[in-house]
Amino acid sequence: MDLFEMRDFDGHEQVVFGFDAASGLRAVIAIHSTVLGPSAGGCRMWPYAGLSDAVSDALRLSRGMSYKNAMAELPFGGGKAVIVGDSREKTRQRMEAFGRLVDSLGGRYITAEDVGTTTRDMEQVACVTPFVTGLPRHGMDGAVPLALPGGSAPDSDIPSGLGDSLMQVGGDPGPKTAFGVFLGLKAAVRVRLGRASVEGIRIAVQGLGGVGYPLCRLLAAEGALLRVADARAAAVQRVCQELGAQEVAAESILFEDVDVVAPCALGAVLDAHSIPRLRARVVAGAANNQLARDEDGEALMRAGILYAPDYVINAGGIISVAHEYQGGTNAAQVRAEIEKIPVRLTEIFERARRESRPTSSVADHMARDRLAMGTRRKVA
Ligand code: NAD
Repeated sequence: MDLFEMRDFDGHEQVVFGFDAASGLRAVIAIHSTVLGPSAGGCRMWPYAGLSDAVSDALRLSRGMSYKNAMAELPFGGGKAVIVGDSREKTRQRMEAFGRLVDSLGGRYITAEDVGTTTRDMEQVACVTPFVTGLPRHGMDGAVPLALPGGSAPDSDIPSGLGDSLMQVGGDPGPKTAFGVFLGLKAAVRVRLGRASVEGIRIAVQGLGGVGYPLCRLLAAEGALLRVADARAAAVQRVCQELGAQEVAAESILFEDVDVVAPCALGAVLDAHSIPRLRARVVAGAANNQLARDEDGEALMRAGILYAPDYVINAGGIISVAHEYQGGTNAAQVRAEIEKIPVRLTEIFERARRESRPTSSVADHMARDRLAMGTRRKVA
């Protein structure tokens, strides 16, 4: 594996490999850019087939974090960590060894949870390093009731129970990501389908975990007609029973005859094989790196499908954990920042339409411009 020649290397500032024999830790931390601030991004635990798969994933995800943080106007750069292994085999020792690896970077990388890691894991990481966020909120400690700023949507649009997590700064980022995806999906529906609400809109949700489940609750509360799939039968059962969603086979969820597809499981689901089979007119979901290759954005545009760039629509979680890390903000301010997601998306959709370009390419250019501006500021 020649790291510098890898397709996904893309000018990364630093890539760190960590090994700890006692705990069995094998981890990679990729720092794409610290131009806008210390790099920030979650830690994924996944049973990668080999080291090059793990490195590739870390590189793709950390570049995505540079773009995501830049677009969300956060004072953070992009980084990401991956731990090689099955998340069911996680131990406190391994998470602490990971925390020491993070600590060794002296604050150039700030970690949080991602697929395969939880707020509890971050609590263990926090025993050995301060460079961690997304920590659990015990009970409602520190919770700030969501005082709505003038002009904000009323809280009645949030199903009971879910509202609680939106009323806290920090904690599990999943519900906040779901809230941003919900607002972004509605913006895409407005632009492509001319509808102000998702009532009666047919939506296929792939993946019903930390983001997919709260997203389904928000959509169902507004009257969307849900079709759902997950690799875990219990997750599907819960959503079908609680929300009246219709179960669909995991292999065919993306290709359902629906208005919107929301990928909320794995990345690289949109490629040369899947795009021609899509029947939805909108793709708007939480999964990171939904496009297998940059060119797939062009294929979506040619197929007449409006794609909400993943790192723009799914920024709710990083907005929340970034504010938690910085301190000094309340839940209403965090919510106001998340409410900017549909505004940014609408700008991207409009520019893409005007310039006849894929939405993904417009977003990439905007993000790269912001990074370039940061570099110029640093040099000046
Ligand atoms: P999660 O692990 O809690 O949930 C993922 C779900 O997808 C699981 O229930 C899993 O069983 C299911 N799944 C896996 N493979 C599947 C398949 N082939 N078909 C159907 N279901 C499948 O993860 P999450 O936190 O909900 O995140 C989902 C996606 O959103 C990930 O790509 C993640 O990187 C991205 N994301 C998450 C956040 C966040 O705040 N959690 C923020 C930004 C982006």
